[in-house]
Amino acid sequence: MKLIEGEPIAEAVYRECLESFETLKEAGHLPGLAVVLVGDDPASKAYVGAKDRKCQELGMHSEKIEMPAETTQDELLAVIDRLNSDVAIHGILVQMPLPGHLDTDEVIRRIDPSKDVDGLHPVNLGKLAMDDPGGFAPCTPAGCQRMLVESGIETAGKHVVIVGRSLLVGKSLALLMMGKGKGANATVTVAHSRTKDLPCITRQADILVAAIGIPRFVGVDHVKEGAVVIDVGINRIEDPTARKGSRLVGDVDFDAVKGLCEAITPVPGGVGKMTIAMLMANTIRACRMKAGL
Ligand code: NDP
Repeated sequence: MKLIEGEPIAEAVYRECLESFETLKEAGHLPGLAVVLVGDDPASKAYVGAKDRKCQELGMHSEKIEMPAETTQDELLAVIDRLNSDVAIHGILVQMPLPGHLDTDEVIRRIDPSKDVDGLHPVNLGKLAMDDPGGFAPCTPAGCQRMLVESGIETAGKHVVIVGRSLLVGKSLALLMMGKGKGANATVTVAHSRTKDLPCITRQADILVAAIGIPRFVGVDHVKEGAVVIDVGINRIEDPTARKGSRLVGDVDFDAVKGLCEAITPVPGGVGKMTIAMLMANTIRACRMKAGL
C-alpha cells in the first residue's frame, strides 16, 4: 500500500507559486488574497488563519476580514464590492459555511469571477464544465486531481467513483475527472445519500473518492482490492486519549481499508494540505492574468 501524503505535493505547488511570484515581482506586481470570515465558528477560524499565514509565508499581500455572526447580507455584499474594486486584491475567498440568515448563492455570484479563486462562481463552474482552462477550479477538487497526477496514478479510462455531490467537492471533482486534461479522462460515477446499494457501486471503483462528512463511513465492504482511495473528509471526533480530547478522522476507515488499497490518502496530512496550496496557486494565477503575464 502506498501512502499519498499531501505535504510533499503541496510543497511542490508552493515551489511553483514562488517561481511565478518572482516573475510577478520583477514586473512590479504583488499577488493579494482577501479572506472573509463571518461569525466565529472555530473550524472556519482555523482555516482562515491558516490561509492568511500561508499568504504571509509566501510574501503575498493578504487581508483577513472578520465580521460578526449578525452581519447583514448588505454589509457582506458591500465588503465584496469593495474587494472587487481593490486593485491590490487578486483573489477573494468567503469562508463557508456562512451563518444561516445569509444568502450564500448571492454572495458567491457577487464576487468578480476573475477574483473568484475558490472557483464557485457560475462563470468558473461553467468554464470547468466546458473544459476551459481560463477559469478557476475549486481548490479541494483541484488538489485531489493534483495528488493523483503527482503520485503517477493513471486516471484515463479508469472508473472513478465519487461519494458526495456538493459543488464544493463532489460535483466539481466529477467535472474535473471527466474532463479532457491531465489527470482526467476518467469514467465517473457520482453517488450520494439517495444512491441505492452504495457498496455495490463503490466496489466498482478503480479510484474511490469519499467526500461525505461522516467519520470513517467507507469501510472494507466499499472498497475493491487494489483500488486507490482519496479521503476528502475532515471530521472531528471525541477521543479521550488525545491531548485535546478530540482528533481528526476522514470519511474512510483508514485502518480497516488500507490493506486492500493500492494507494490511500491519510487524514490528517492528505487532501487537506492541498486545499490551501491550490488556493495560493489560483491567487497567483489570478494576479498573472490581471497583469497579462
Ligand atoms: P456536504 O455536506 O456539502 O456534502 C456531503 C455529500 O455526501 C452530499 O452529497 C450527501 O448526499 C453525501 N452523503 C451524505 N450521507 C451519505 C450517505 N450515507 N451515503 C452516501 N452519500 C452521502 O459536504 P462537503 O462536500 O462540503 O464535504 C464533505 C467532506 O469533506 C466533509 O468531511 C468536509 O469536512 C470535507 N472537506 C474537506 C476539505 C479539505 O480541504 N480536505 C474541503 C471541503 C470539505 P446528498 O447530496 O444526497 O445530501
